[in-house]
Amino acid sequence: MTERTVKKSIKELSPLDVYKLLPRITPPCGECGEKNCMAFAVKAVTREVALEKCVPLLTEKYKAEYVQLRDLLAPPVKEITVGIGDRSVKIGGKAVQYRHELTYHNPTPIAIDIADEMPDNQILERVKAVESFRYNYIGRILKLDMIAVRSSSNDPSRFGAVVQKVAEATALPLILCSFNPEVIEAGLRTVYNKRPLIYAAAENNWNKMAELAVKYNCPLVVHASEDLRMLKSLVKTLVEYGVEDLVLDPGTFVGEGLANTINNFTMIRRSACGGDKLLGFPILGAPIAVWKERTEPKELLMWKEACLASILLTRYTDILIMHSLEGWVLLPNIIWRFNIYTDPSKPVSVEAGLKIFGTPNVDSPVMITTNYALTFFTVESDIRSANIDCFLIVVDTGGLSVESSVAGRYLTAETITEALRKSGIEEKVKHRYLIIPGLAARLSGDIEQLSGWQVLVGPRDSSGIPTFLKDRWPPKKE
Ligand code: SF4
Repeated sequence: MTERTVKKSIKELSPLDVYKLLPRITPPCGECGEKNCMAFAVKAVTREVALEKCVPLLTEKYKAEYVQLRDLLAPPVKEITVGIGDRSVKIGGKAVQYRHELTYHNPTPIAIDIADEMPDNQILERVKAVESFRYNYIGRILKLDMIAVRSSSNDPSRFGAVVQKVAEATALPLILCSFNPEVIEAGLRTVYNKRPLIYAAAENNWNKMAELAVKYNCPLVVHASEDLRMLKSLVKTLVEYGVEDLVLDPGTFVGEGLANTINNFTMIRRSACGGDKLLGFPILGAPIAVWKERTEPKELLMWKEACLASILLTRYTDILIMHSLEGWVLLPNIIWRFNIYTDPSKPVSVEAGLKIFGTPNVDSPVMITTNYALTFFTVESDIRSANIDCFLIVVDTGGLSVESSVAGRYLTAETITEALRKSGIEEKVKHRYLIIPGLAARLSGDIEQLSGWQVLVGPRDSSGIPTFLKDRWPPKKE
């Protein structure tokens, strides 16, 4: 028997369950930005809109319904905020175990560690490196999220000084790491108003850590190495003590312990989604654990850390602590994270329309592509790196690639002709030649017939655009 009272899980909820409790004002007030209460209910169930967007629901009149709805829509994994303001991160808040059941929310923040025994200049360099880490992936800027300050010295005054130095250099949320409550308090005193995450309460220090979490109003990690019974018992005790924002750390192990680690993470998330309230908190994973094995070559440890991070991202980790700052370790993981947390039912797309590269003139080439983000940014990158002056018309294919949109009839002679018309390209060039992707070759006859433009079938891969233009542009008059 689990502790959670029996109620429908989020995936069993129907929009009608939510609709019944909404104000249902007639005619619909639309203050939520939706056409009516049913449209709002549909989005609330899939967590595309926050309950608080329904303004009338927040009034005294509907207080009881609001509380009921909040409970109904509460995810089985509690959402916890670390840090304050714009740079704060939300962790957990998961509604389901598997991504195909409902889109995941709150991408796993990645924290990079700083040990308090590092020299001051190295500490500041690491903070700067974390802050400036950026990667543009199909138009989205991917970043690192947090800094974990570790007390390797076990000296409260050194730890307090380092936490202060880090907090002065960055607004990123912090994790304060030590099992010594005196050390943690020294850190908390310097960032008492910034809501850092405290790591960690364990069997032998939980009461002092709980006191600190309550006193400074900070979320707290609960640690119990490979012992889920102990973990639950600690959670129960801490909740009764009054600490409500908890993060679970069942321990991260490598080598022979890895299978057990994955098993524990999976058991926790499965139990939470099955209604076990004591395990309904975000999970902390620590790929940094590979660095305990200092006898191995550095590159091998970095490679192991990269692999472990991707495994933990996949298996339910809501917050990660890592050590490596090298691009080849972090990039695969931030891209993997992006993909896990992207709605699989909505392809990543860019805005359709006319894009201008360089300084094209009336004789410049006109090309088309689709608005699938990966397709667009690949084409864009190939055009820019070859310094081509041209016009590119991006056709709205619902975010599908060229091949899929031709097969699914999203890229057709009709949609292309319409995109040409809307783009106003006829006023920008004096020729009527249109270069289409090689993968859309079979549309060329229909496009010519419908649009009146003459089609040149371009390369199947956009990397061939520079050579294609060199050989075929301007087109020879027939
Ligand atoms: S704001 Fe609330 S009451 Fe008004 S239409 Fe939206 S859901 Fe209905």
